[in-house]
Amino acid sequence: VKTDKNNIYLDYSATTPLDPKVFEVMKPYFLENFGNASSVHSYGRKAKIALEESRQIVAKSIGAEPGEVFFTSGGTEADNHALIGTAFSVRRHSPTKNHLIVSSIEHHAVLHTADYLSSLGFLVTKLPVNEYGLLDPSEVENALRPESFLVSVMHANNEIGTIQPISAISSIVQQRGIFLHSDTVQSAGKIAVNVHDLGADFIALSAHKFYGPKGIGALYIRKGMDPDSLLHGGSQERKRRAGTENVALAVGFAAALENSLRELEETSARLWTLKTHLVSLLKNKVEGIIFNGHPENCLPTIVNISFDSKKQFVDGEALILNMDLNGVAVTSGSACTSGSIETSHVLRALGRDEGTARASIRFSLGKYTTITEIEDAVSVLLKIRKMVIVSHS
Ligand code: PLP
Repeated sequence: VKTDKNNIYLDYSATTPLDPKVFEVMKPYFLENFGNASSVHSYGRKAKIALEESRQIVAKSIGAEPGEVFFTSGGTEADNHALIGTAFSVRRHSPTKNHLIVSSIEHHAVLHTADYLSSLGFLVTKLPVNEYGLLDPSEVENALRPESFLVSVMHANNEIGTIQPISAISSIVQQRGIFLHSDTVQSAGKIAVNVHDLGADFIALSAHKFYGPKGIGALYIRKGMDPDSLLHGGSQERKRRAGTENVALAVGFAAALENSLRELEETSARLWTLKTHLVSLLKNKVEGIIFNGHPENCLPTIVNISFDSKKQFVDGEALILNMDLNGVAVTSGSACTSGSIETSHVLRALGRDEGTARASIRFSLGKYTTITEIEDAVSVLLKIRKMVIVSHS
């Protein structure tokens, strides 16, 4: 796969290209095996079999039972379902339980959902992280109240790549009978994601982050949990999510996850080499930068830097725009916030001042990234750097 010979794509955390092998596996489910999985005739049965086989593959990949995996339209819906579904269900059964806890560096799919719940009267605590983006499990412990019902902490952060101590957090919340949701959208397919090791009651997945199709993901719902449904209608997904299932996407999701796990060790080793090279090039050649994210507890796919506003003031928008004009696709925050001038809440949570947070670049690497692309991207950054400096402090 090559997006464009003249362009360097270093935005794999925003999305990945579909793996051609995955596309081939999906094709028949658009064209020949197009049946509705709820139909009883042979077309429907074929679709149903493919859907259930996909569910088995996804379940096995995360150490779950097939009955615990529910297909969704992506990571956003899975996060919404975990938070809203649990909040509504708990409120009906135990009205005094109205408090949920999230980390302050969650993706907006979690943070804005928590804000929505807050607008409905739920109480939300957003926990701080340290300068590397790590959440201290004792912060969770201290924030727990008798009214708490859910803690939501992402596995790996989409902007800085920091990996959270989910199993340690799980030990704390489980003792108190509080539920744990973990957004594993960025970690799945890149590092091991096993629901038992994590100790999570819910996890969210999204296929387009690991070379699968966009518009499909899954919510793992541990057996015994009973969040309310967000979509009401037919009895698809065992009545948890109404609507005709997109079998082709489910098949693609399963194939992509299976491939990623098969290739994980090899890809991960290659990516670590590339990341280390990129970090050392940036360190040695680009003055006045700070690295964002944990140096060790992190994904091999993300390198996030900021130009320190105490040394020079860099126009972050111009930075990304000029990188793009020179054929390098990177982002200045999460894909969902770029395009707007909102400063990254993640970088602010690390303690970066406004100017430094704005002058940031996230390079995110993927399985098609080459060493030449890394070196060319750094050369482009060096070339345009002078143009985007607004002032020296
Ligand atoms: N959670 C995280 C950590 C993400 O990075 C993303 C996508 O950027 C999402 C959730 C949303 O996933 P989707 O694009 O499948 O809705």
